[in-house]
Amino acid sequence: RNLKRHMECRRDIGTLNFRFLSIYESLIPEEEEKAKQKQLLTLLEKLVSKEWPKAQLFLYGSCANSFGVSKSDIDVCLAIDDADINKSEFLLKLADILQSDNLQNVQALTRARVPIVKLKDPVTGISCDICINNVLAVVNTKLLRDYAQIDVRLRQLAFIVKHWAKSRGVNETYQGTLSSYAYVLMCIHFLQQCKPAILPCLQGMQTTYSVTVDDIQCAFFDQVERLRHFGSHNKESIAQLVWAFFNYWAYHHDYANDVISIRTGSIISKREKDWTRRKGNDRHLICIEDPFEISHDLGRVVDKFSIKVLREEFERAAYIMQYDPDPCVTLFEPY
Ligand code: ATP
Ligand code: MG
Repeated sequence: RNLKRHMECRRDIGTLNFRFLSIYESLIPEEEEKAKQKQLLTLLEKLVSKEWPKAQLFLYGSCANSFGVSKSDIDVCLAIDDADINKSEFLLKLADILQSDNLQNVQALTRARVPIVKLKDPVTGISCDICINNVLAVVNTKLLRDYAQIDVRLRQLAFIVKHWAKSRGVNETYQGTLSSYAYVLMCIHFLQQCKPAILPCLQGMQTTYSVTVDDIQCAFFDQVERLRHFGSHNKESIAQLVWAFFNYWAYHHDYANDVISIRTGSIISKREKDWTRRKGNDRHLICIEDPFEISHDLGRVVDKFSIKVLREEFERAAYIMQYDPDPCVTLFEPY
């Protein structure tokens, strides 16, 4: 009721929707770009299989989870069933192989949290990160892609939120703000808890897909084509959802006690997870549970300075959605 009353104050709601939808559409990658990504993947497969015939390549991250905007880099996971590989040595060798095939800027980052080889393909102009055996990321990519197929409003909301986060400089994990992955989880959570719900909780339903990765069982309902009407009782449009999303993170989320969890489709308590105080570098100032690595808080990068920045940005966005004459411009103004 509150939401309706607030948004009805905006006489321009129809126009606002139209403009958010245009922004969303302008961010969707062209088919041509998708084709180029495939082309690069095929080239990489060819090079890798010469050296390691049993290795498999998977796309993961935003190029495969349907939350990728145009001109994004691609993320590739090289899966190889060899228990005693030394990742650093492997990556250095991989970098060598790729370098000798005319790929540009080949760089092995063996000391990163997730060690990778970076490269740029001069033919397609696409940059790419390759990691080794990060199969959980491939599975969480599938989970996100499956959620996106249930209701188009998830993809619309996530594109707007990611675009906002990039414009406002709050999508930088090395500066203590949140990853794109974390923002998409926040959007899924938001659409699971709104009333009537727009998204179900796939991990709370009958298991139709199940894999065990690094001793973690990943199980969920993946016949999402059967859920196409799930959110149809909720008629809220994208402008209303953007407003409500920012309002939730500005004024309604209980930062002191709550953890958002798309795994359970609800809020769980920090106390239950023992995330009430700082442990090492994990401060748990905003808590976002990973759907599979449940001991992993995607908010752990946030520190006492960046939490302020983030919350002020949520408040700014909520204010703009409520009062600004031209939210579609002001919201995305560079910081
Ligand atoms: P962008 O469009 O900004 O590149 P992205 O979805 O590719 O968005 P990244 O932050 O590049 O986001 O992450 C790539 C993928 O790696 C994610 O989609 C997710 O599958 C996985 N990932 C990233 N961060 C984490 C994390 N902290 N824990 C688990 N998986 C993660
Ligand atoms: Mg990426």
